[in-house]
Amino acid sequence: MTDRLIWLDQVTKEFRRGEIGVRAVDQVSLTIAPGEFVAIMGKSGSGKSTLLHLMSGLQQPTSGRVELLGQALATLTDDQLTLLRRHRLGFVFQFFNLLPTLTALENVTLPLLMARVPAREAERKGRAVLEQVGLADRADHRPDELSGGQMQRVAIARALVTEPPVLFADEPTGNLDTVAGEEILLLLKRMQAERGQTILMVTHDPKAAAYGDRLITMRDGRVIEDLRTGGMAL
Ligand code: ADP
Ligand code: MG
Repeated sequence: MTDRLIWLDQVTKEFRRGEIGVRAVDQVSLTIAPGEFVAIMGKSGSGKSTLLHLMSGLQQPTSGRVELLGQALATLTDDQLTLLRRHRLGFVFQFFNLLPTLTALENVTLPLLMARVPAREAERKGRAVLEQVGLADRADHRPDELSGGQMQRVAIARALVTEPPVLFADEPTGNLDTVAGEEILLLLKRMQAERGQTILMVTHDPKAAAYGDRLITMRDGRVIEDLRTGGMAL
């Protein structure tokens, strides 16, 4: 892999609402290198989530080019994009999105079972990653038996169980109290340090952004600032 894990060239995304067009992302060019922990900040509606969707192939740009893991996304079929997302990308959201009837372990192993990994191996990997996020003893609990911070750690374990080179996190601490949020940020930082995990994290919170080593600020769909911040020592 080169130092071009994600590459955006003059990427624009427009949404139409009747006669009115909204430029959610406006002529953005960016390169993300392997192992970076990038924080993306900006007001609500500035295009942060749309930028993540474009980078991860969830949405197609109106114009411009996106390359992810050496592949030009425009050249891939929907099936190829789905496989790329399932095997090579991890996603974490504000509202955890765990399946309520499954245990922590079952939630975590689901992506492996969908990828046809044998059940025993899936369980072994699931338990190992739950251990990494500090939840070995909660494997058999359902989401309603866990705290918000624990649920988000399960969601991170689920996102990382396929060992994806890239993790996308959209407001991962947005629904957590300060202490639980800090635990999640330290966990992400540790994943970067220990696994060389590349992380793209959208956040409202400057304190959360300080855990990254690069800070991208958006306004009205544009990148108005892109700073190397050095990151916080563990
Ligand atoms: P952020 O994540 O920074 O809050 P978004 O990327 O969600 O911003 O949205 C950027 C702009 O694009 C907003 O004006 C939003 O209303 C608009 N937008 C986002 N997604 C859609 C969509 N699917 N259809 C229409 N407009 C959208
Ligand atoms: Mg958003």
